[in-house]
Amino acid sequence: MSLFEEFGLHRRVLQAIHDMGFEAPSPIQAACIPIVMEGVDVIGQAQTGTGKTAAFGIPLVEMMTPDPHVQAIVLTPTRELAIQVAGEIRKIAKYKRVRSVPIYGGQSIGHQIRALKQGVHIVIGTPGRVLDHIRRGTLQLGQVRMVVLDEADEMLDMGFIDDIEAILRETPEERQTLLFSATFPSEVKRLSGRYMRDPRHVTVNRGEVTVPRIDQICYKVLDRNKLESLCRIVDSEEIQLGIIFCRTKRGVDDLVEALLARGYMADGLHGDLSQAQRDRVMRRFRRNEIELLVATDVAARGLDVDDVTHVVNYDIPQDPESYVHRIGRTGRAGKHGLAITLVTPREYKLLKQIERETKVTMDVRDVPSLEDVAERQAEMWRNR
Ligand code: ADP
Ligand code: MG
Repeated sequence: MSLFEEFGLHRRVLQAIHDMGFEAPSPIQAACIPIVMEGVDVIGQAQTGTGKTAAFGIPLVEMMTPDPHVQAIVLTPTRELAIQVAGEIRKIAKYKRVRSVPIYGGQSIGHQIRALKQGVHIVIGTPGRVLDHIRRGTLQLGQVRMVVLDEADEMLDMGFIDDIEAILRETPEERQTLLFSATFPSEVKRLSGRYMRDPRHVTVNRGEVTVPRIDQICYKVLDRNKLESLCRIVDSEEIQLGIIFCRTKRGVDDLVEALLARGYMADGLHGDLSQAQRDRVMRRFRRNEIELLVATDVAARGLDVDDVTHVVNYDIPQDPESYVHRIGRTGRAGKHGLAITLVTPREYKLLKQIERETKVTMDVRDVPSLEDVAERQAEMWRNR
């Protein structure tokens, strides 16, 4: 086991890491921090929830100089993730005079322009809004030394490739480029081939795609009684915080309404909500005022909420990568999680594909009967 003290970090950075409660670097951090500090390009690939943010956040903060111009930019696929990464970078920079701002769509641009004018070292943003600022002349990347592409696979899935390339072209060619991803599909390979120089590829836990702390099970359901099945499953589980994934925004809205009508504490998260609404839902979820967060893939990417005990795929994900990302919302930072997937007969093929790619064989169960549910609930009461 290595220690943060071994990386030669400034004591102000070490103190901040200590305040965050990190005792020892995670494997991806142990592998990445020293080589990032050497200045080389790095591709970091590790499962979700393994601390990739600090793997680049720590050397980023360490390597900033006092000069008040944008020295580093971090691109993330979603607004929520930009806010989350900015929050973690701020904590690392707590005792160092390194300023950072998140910039993302949906927030007043005037507010962001004022923040940028104050002299910022690290910008964390979504590609669309970053490009918007570049075009308005309110963000200059001519002196950027470090670029981080966080959750690169997701950014490409979301169709940000042109925006990312346009942003990279605004930065000096001799920059250091870091790319983090849970998976490494061919589009990400192509991007790294084009924009990185002799990158060192760091892979942690090769061959193990999903996080072992997550138990994975399936329930056989029928389309016509899917809602009823979901409710029985939820009732027979001890869910503290759960995220339920639906395929469409409409599906999210409908399910939230149905769950509320049945007395569950639920709310929805998807891309059609205003930023204020999304922030509010996330705040309520983090404070445990919502038990079940119903979301589309896009809205929940990369989210790190402590203590998510269950992830439920109400609609089965359309591809194995999306499955890995979804279930990665639970079992974070060493905690235990349960991933439940509802499968209709015509989705068995998809399930098999997911099992093949993740190398996990899932326990396929029948939906609990009402008697089973009653028995489970009695048991939960006894254990209280
Ligand atoms: P990833 O980007 O790999 O999905 P995150 O960077 O979001 O993972 O980290 C997941 C969680 O683990 C966060 O809550 C983070 O604060 C925590 N964490 C990261 N590194 C450490 C560490 N070295 N020790 C303890 N907790 C950590
Ligand atoms: Mg991450």
